[in-house]
Amino acid sequence: MGPTPTPPSAPQIRRTTSAGGGSGSIILDKYQLGRLLGRGSFAKVYLARLLDHPDAAEVAIKVIDKAATVDAAMEPRIVREVSAMRRLHHHPNILNLHEVMATKTKIYLVMELAPGGELFAKLSRCRRFSESAARRYFHQVISALRFCHQNGVFHRDIKPQNLLLDHNGILKITDFGLSALSEHKIDGLVRTACGTPAYTAPEVVSRKGYDGEKADAWSCGVLLYVFLVGNLPFDDTNLSNMYRAMHRRALEFPDWVSKSAKIVIYRLLDPNPSTRLSLDELIKHSWFKKSFSEENLRSQGDDKAGSGSEFLDSKGFKFMPRVNAFDLISMSSGLNLSGLFEEETSSKEMRFTSGMAVVEIEEKVRKAGLEFGYTVERGKGGGIRLVKGRAVAVVVEIWEVAAELWLVELRLIDGAAEFGELQWGELRSIFTRNDVVA
Ligand code: ADP
Ligand code: MG
Repeated sequence: MGPTPTPPSAPQIRRTTSAGGGSGSIILDKYQLGRLLGRGSFAKVYLARLLDHPDAAEVAIKVIDKAATVDAAMEPRIVREVSAMRRLHHHPNILNLHEVMATKTKIYLVMELAPGGELFAKLSRCRRFSESAARRYFHQVISALRFCHQNGVFHRDIKPQNLLLDHNGILKITDFGLSALSEHKIDGLVRTACGTPAYTAPEVVSRKGYDGEKADAWSCGVLLYVFLVGNLPFDDTNLSNMYRAMHRRALEFPDWVSKSAKIVIYRLLDPNPSTRLSLDELIKHSWFKKSFSEENLRSQGDDKAGSGSEFLDSKGFKFMPRVNAFDLISMSSGLNLSGLFEEETSSKEMRFTSGMAVVEIEEKVRKAGLEFGYTVERGKGGGIRLVKGRAVAVVVEIWEVAAELWLVELRLIDGAAEFGELQWGELRSIFTRNDVVA
């Protein structure tokens, strides 16, 4: 396959040379870190500016400490965050990702700055929004989410803390850390419950597998309730009580919420995802359509994206193709995630992406294992392992990072001395023939 040009605004990945840490430090001789903007569950976000371009716009840099993310479960999360943001940067209500950099110990995501901070802070200040303010924010959230869904991405962690504001008060969705290009770890059964309990649809928690679009619609119902009322619709420190209330649809509204807003919220907070209002239905609802116009969306900024019309006519809207293995290979010059992990990877671990079907990957591992006298067993937490007697030699985990694209991780277990370089090399080679090796 020939080289494919990198899309013009694809984020570039670079390796940084400085050991940049907190405020004041310089990263890659390029950005100077300023004050701390916020803290997330596994990262700190700093204000930053380009060193040689004093007039250039300030940016936000999310610094992810690798030491805090050595947990293998974190890596697919980062890969997902970056892939999701990369695919979604053409919407005025989605925070733009400019660049990704990595050092031995840290990963830096250089993002568009949202100087207005969290919508949550604004909401806390004024307690609740008027119906027209709530609707204005809601329009922007729904516009961005429909765009995500049309591109095969579900956010899954929609809440006011992940909605930021730019200098014009335009809403920007961030924190795709939990967003799912696909939702589950592939072992056929285990699904990861994610998001924040009070905002998460009940079917997500039940781990039976779910429709990501409908799960996001539920979170939008919670969000709209919070906008209008100032409290969570279901809130109980006892989670099982909370889920009982969700299933009973025990919703209470104060007097000031209009009848049609109540109906919209009630329809979104339907515990049954198949009867729950979809976002496509939502945008046709009279409450939603009020003071909504194309004009309105355009004035929400970012003319280069030229979006807004996708809202009214989703058929006329340009779809971005789903990312598949082929795309990932061809865009890898722009976004080579494998490089992020390279230095952390010991000779006892390997990771690569594969477009092969999961059963095919597993079959290859099984065959190679058999040749060396190992059998395959399914691990408790998912994945498969090569075992001899009761000793586990190799653990294989497979994660879906995009449609038809798997991240495969092979780990040699300490003490499996018998499983030597030769076997390890052999195992590696069965994947390197057609695939990208990390
Ligand atoms: P995590 O994924 O670890 O939860 P977030 O992406 O939510 O991290 O970022 C943590 C906090 O940092 C946010 O809640 C917000 O206050 C602040 N923040 C994140 N990105 C930006 C940005 N682009 N501009 C301004 N503040 C930001
Ligand atoms: Mg966050």
